[in-house]
Amino acid sequence: MKFYFPDSQDLVSPTYDFYRDEYSPLRVRQRDDLYAHEVLAGTPYDGILVSKAIVDGSISGAGKYSESQRARIYRLGVRKYFRLPDSVETLGDNGAFNYVQEKVPPVTVEETIDFYEGCGFDAGVSVDHIIFGYESDSGLEAPNPEWAERRLLTLHMAEDFFGSVARRGARLVPVGAAQGWSPASYADSVKQLQAIGYSRIALGGMVPLKTHEIIECLTAIDDIRAPATQLHLLGITRVDSMADFAGLGVTSFDSTSAFRQAFMDDRRNFHTVDADFVAIRVPQVGGNSVLKRNILAGVVSQKDAVATERECLRRIRAFDGGATPVTSVLEVLGEYETITKCKKSYLDAYERILEAAPWKACDCRLCQRHGIEIAIFRGTERNKRRGFHNLSVLAKKMSRLPTPVGARRSCG
Ligand SMILES: [Zn+2]
Repeated sequence: MKFYFPDSQDLVSPTYDFYRDEYSPLRVRQRDDLYAHEVLAGTPYDGILVSKAIVDGSISGAGKYSESQRARIYRLGVRKYFRLPDSVETLGDNGAFNYVQEKVPPVTVEETIDFYEGCGFDAGVSVDHIIFGYESDSGLEAPNPEWAERRLLTLHMAEDFFGSVARRGARLVPVGAAQGWSPASYADSVKQLQAIGYSRIALGGMVPLKTHEIIECLTAIDDIRAPATQLHLLGITRVDSMADFAGLGVTSFDSTSAFRQAFMDDRRNFHTVDADFVAIRVPQVGGNSVLKRNILAGVVSQKDAVATERECLRRIRAFDGGATPVTSVLEVLGEYETITKCKKSYLDAYERILEAAPWKACDCRLCQRHGIEIAIFRGTERNKRRGFHNLSVLAKKMSRLPTPVGARRSCG
């Protein structure tokens, strides 16, 4: 089972100073910053997924790339731009989520292949249009005419894409996109893509589906799936069900959730193979908009806030060095929660992570190097490092998956 990490230009600065919370004045973004595969000892993913909408921008706005970064990825090619080891594969797609509101995709087949060829991707997904709706029993009859239109459009564009890749002699493995609203419609899409000639097929629009609904679709697809066909799940993690997915022909998936949970989730910020922990929130007085507003309004004393923030960090570090008990850290974190007018208390969860100290047992290079710093929810440099740590945990979980009974091929 291969895991592709979707790019959103997430890097960390190796020279960031955690004690002063400052970047080196000499740092050049992206060039000096490092990707997860550069800071962890083992690459935590088998491939990266880069969306055209992120690089080139789309109808919903500019992409994540600056104009000079965009020029560089086209000039250097995706592999050199990301400084990827040879073992990591590169997959391109359009980022269909960015134009889900449009009647038709605002991008042509030729523009898409231009992007894939221009950046030198190993493989690229055909143009697709997401159907956000699911009705298990509706079969091939779409309950909504727009769903049927989107599926047919996706299939027509897949046919054009396959033909055009061959005609242009593009050095690119074409991946056909399948959309649907039910097990029968997904299975029919896969059947038609196989007839066009695709042996790699990406299943889109499944993010809102419940796991049993995904299994239901994969089971229907399994009836018509050719032995050589490899399925990719777009945007899905669900590690607990991966062995079942693998048994039904899924050989790869992509998802940002392990990374994003580090700083987007309310509770599951710091992952381990067996449990998830909350990260210790010590927001920067200068970087927290609610706190700034309260200071300006005279509700919070800036002096007290800064002093308590510093004391939190001092005691957290002292605790990691064995010089302060958990109670003393919790006491000052409680004071800071009061000062920052935190809507709810995380103290119970803090006690749990402090007692468990999961960074001490982790062998990833980031935990080894930074210790408790990356368990602190504070600023992008700590938060992204924790996200990278989570990716290394995901890689470990994936490596422990049982080989599915009856799997038609190896999933190594
Ligand atoms: Zn770690």
